[in-house]
Amino acid sequence: MSIKRIVIVGGGTAGWMAAAAMSRLKFGRTLDITLVESEAIGTVGVGEATIPPFVDFNDLLGIDEAEMLASIQGTFKLGIQFENWGNLGDSYIHPFGAYGYAMGGIAFHHVWHKMAQGGDKRPIQAFNLETMAAYFGKFARTQDYQREDLPPMNYAYHIDAGKYAAFLRKYAETRGVVREEGKVSDVAQNPETGFITSVTLDDGRTLEGDLFVDCSGFRGLLIEQTLGTGYEDWTHWLPCNRAVALPCLREDGSPPPPFTRATAHSAGWQWQVPLQHRNGNGHVYCSAYMEDQEALDILLGNIAGKPQADPNFLRFVTGRRKKFWNKNVVALGLAAGFMEPLESTSIHLINTGIDKFLSLLSLEGITQAQQDTFNRLTGREYARIRDFLILHYNATQRTDSDFWNYVRTMDVPDTLTEKVEIFKANGQIFREEDELFTDTSWAAVMMGQGIKMGGHNPMAESIDGPEARKEIDEMERSIRFLVQQMPGHGDYLSRYCPAEAA
Ligand code: FAD
Repeated sequence: MSIKRIVIVGGGTAGWMAAAAMSRLKFGRTLDITLVESEAIGTVGVGEATIPPFVDFNDLLGIDEAEMLASIQGTFKLGIQFENWGNLGDSYIHPFGAYGYAMGGIAFHHVWHKMAQGGDKRPIQAFNLETMAAYFGKFARTQDYQREDLPPMNYAYHIDAGKYAAFLRKYAETRGVVREEGKVSDVAQNPETGFITSVTLDDGRTLEGDLFVDCSGFRGLLIEQTLGTGYEDWTHWLPCNRAVALPCLREDGSPPPPFTRATAHSAGWQWQVPLQHRNGNGHVYCSAYMEDQEALDILLGNIAGKPQADPNFLRFVTGRRKKFWNKNVVALGLAAGFMEPLESTSIHLINTGIDKFLSLLSLEGITQAQQDTFNRLTGREYARIRDFLILHYNATQRTDSDFWNYVRTMDVPDTLTEKVEIFKANGQIFREEDELFTDTSWAAVMMGQGIKMGGHNPMAESIDGPEARKEIDEMERSIRFLVQQMPGHGDYLSRYCPAEAA
C-alpha cells in the first residue's frame, strides 16, 4: 500500500520537528501531511537544553540561526557543568568538542596523561576550547574567526521549548503541513493487519492515514494505548522518576552563562538552563527517597530569582518502547521512551529518529525490514545513552544519603562495567556502534567523577621530543589566545540574536 497520507499525532517538540522535517517530502509530490494536537491537553512544556547535532538539524531545514534564536529566547551552550556528583563540592565540565586533538593516531587524553606523569601540571581542561570559553563566560562561532590554525567551536543551544515548537509550526505550515486542533478520542485499525487506518477527534472529524507518527507524549496514544507495544523499564538503573520544573527571572542582571548546570542533590539533581531573559530550572528526583514538597523546597532554595510560573510536577518511567516502529506507527519523542535530561539527549533522539525514519522511508509501502532496522538501530542508541547516564550516578564517592548509597552500589549493565574497567587500565575508550558520546565525553565524566586512568596507551610514549612538545604548547596557547579575544556570551547574544524582553 503506497503512502499518500501521513498523520502526526501530537504538537510538542517531537510533533513539530517531525512535521518540519517531513514537509520536505512534499516537494513535487501529492502527499498530505496533517498534524493533530490538542490545546486542552497541552505539551510537556520542558526540554530546553540541546546538544550540537541539533544545530545541524535546524541548519538542514534552512533555518536562519540568528532569526530562530531571537524568536525562541535562545542562548549558546558549550557543555554541562556538573556539581556535587563525584563528591559534595566537586565540579567539572563535560564539554562539547574534544580534549586537544589526536596525535599519532592516539586520543589526546593519553598524551596528556603521559605528560602529567612526567610532571606537567596543566589540567586537561586547558586543552579544550569549549571548557575554557565556558569558564570565562565567552563565546564566538568558528565563522567569526575563520582561522584554520585555531580550533573550531562546538556548540548547541538553550531554547524555550514552547517558542521553538511555535517557530517550527510556522515553518511547517508554510510548507503545506495542515494543523488540526482537537483531541483524538478514537483510533480505527484494519481488522486483518492491525494497521491504523484513522483517528477520530472528539468533535467527530476523522483523519485517515497510511502512516502515523506518534508524538503524543508519555501516553503513547497509538504505539502503546492502541498497539500495546510494551515498555522496557530501566528504573532499577536510573531510579529518578519525578521532576518539578519552575522557570525564574535572573534577578542579578548577570549575562546567561554559555553552559547548562546540573547540580546533584540528596536524591537527584537540579538543572539550570539559561535563556536570554530567564532561567529554566527543574529538580529531577526519586520518589522512593524524596517527597514532592521537599523536592520543591530544595528547588526554590536554589534558583536565581522570582519564579515565573507555578511549579510543574512531572512523573516518568525511564525506559523505552519495545518497538519504536510498529506496523504503520513510528513513535518519536516521549511516546518512544524517556531518559532523564541529564545529558540533554531527548530532543537529540527525536532528531536521530527522524533522520533514520526518513532514510528508511519508501512511499511505496512499509516493509518488515524497515521496521526491524529502525528498531534495532534505535534500541542500540538508547542503550548506549543509558549506560552513559548510569555512569554519572554509579561513579560517585557520595555516601551522604540512601539514594547515593543505592546508585553507588547497584549492579550496572556489563557494557558499562567493561567500559570503565578498560578506561581504568589504560585510558582506552571504545565507541561502539556509532554511539553518540565521544572519547572526550566519556573521559570528562569518568575523570570528573574520580575514576583514574591507571595508565595510557603505550603508543603515547612515542609522542615526545621538542617538536611534539612545541605542538602541544601551541595547542594550549591557541585556545588561551582565542578565548581572550572572544566577546562575553551576553554581548554576543545582544549583537547577534537579541530576543525581545519576555
Ligand atoms: P509532549 O510535549 O508531551 O507533546 C505531546 C503532544 O501530543 C501535545 O501536543 C499534546 O497536545 C498531544 N496529544 C496528546 N494526546 C493527544 C490526543 N488524545 N489528541 C490530540 N493530541 C494529543 N529534552 C532535551 O533534549 N533537553 C532537555 O533539557 C530536556 N529536559 C526535560 C526535562 C523533563 C523534566 C522532561 C520530562 C523532559 C525533558 N526533555 C528534555 C524531553 C523533552 O521535553 C521532550 O523530548 C520533548 O519535549 C518532546 O516531547 P513530545 O513532543 O514527545 O511530547
